[in-house]
Amino acid sequence: MKYEGMIFRPPSEADSLILQVTVGCSYNRCTFCGAYQGKRFRIKSFEEIKEDIDQASPYKIRRVFLADGDALSIPQRGLLKILSYLKAELKGLERVGIYANAKDILRKEVEELKALKDLGLRILYLGLESGDPEVLKRIKKNATVDQLIRAGKRVKEAGIQLSVTVILGLGGVEGSQRHALETGKVLSEMDPDYVGALSLMIVPGTPIEKEIEAGRLVLPTPFGLIRELEIMVAHSKFTHCFFASNHASNYLPLRIQLPEEKEEALERIREVLRRKDPDLLRPEYLRAL
Ligand code: SF4
Repeated sequence: MKYEGMIFRPPSEADSLILQVTVGCSYNRCTFCGAYQGKRFRIKSFEEIKEDIDQASPYKIRRVFLADGDALSIPQRGLLKILSYLKAELKGLERVGIYANAKDILRKEVEELKALKDLGLRILYLGLESGDPEVLKRIKKNATVDQLIRAGKRVKEAGIQLSVTVILGLGGVEGSQRHALETGKVLSEMDPDYVGALSLMIVPGTPIEKEIEAGRLVLPTPFGLIRELEIMVAHSKFTHCFFASNHASNYLPLRIQLPEEKEEALERIREVLRRKDPDLLRPEYLRAL
């Protein structure tokens, strides 16, 4: 496998073959994101991608994740070609996953997404980050709440599993409650199959670091972040969703099925908030991106 720069993948793709089909992120301007700093965006040539697939083909590979940041930005013809080749060469392939942003999704019709699904694209990871329009604007998300909801619904309509990421702490102390509340509401409208909640961690050199240094954004305390988690879970109305806050950035790891385990989870979160005992939290030295 020939990888360019650091490779990022969702936690649930830990056992997948990571196939780098694009380098970097075509947008690369979200103020909190340092993932692809310094990487110039490009779509790899089919020859480069084919070489990596050929190298992997003798092995039994069940899952593939297409990296980097927004591989769905590859034009439809290119994606169909990559997925067809993967399907033909990796005999045991069950699922292909991909990161996408709202605009990439909305550029595709449901039928086009279905065509990708038929060739193996089974899960799509979309960063919502916040359901609060003010936060989305401040972090330069490049998508409105309406676009994000429509994008999420379109993915589901195509029969592709939808996994949505949200970030605790993005509203700062001042906007904490609204951020959590609006995010809970927007998640409910999207009704994803999976939600991954991360806690904001400041990557050096990002614009959000400057906002914090200048005092324009004050981060919530660890218990403030857990309170956001409580609000989001309390306001969620899902059909069937696996909600996880077990990412290494979080202070309180949860893995719950919603709505089935909602009350149980809320009780646990509220108990932690009542006791405010730092020993109940993941220690700072174990937190990482
Ligand atoms: S959060 Fe996603 S869309 Fe935004 S810059 Fe990072 S990789 Fe690109």
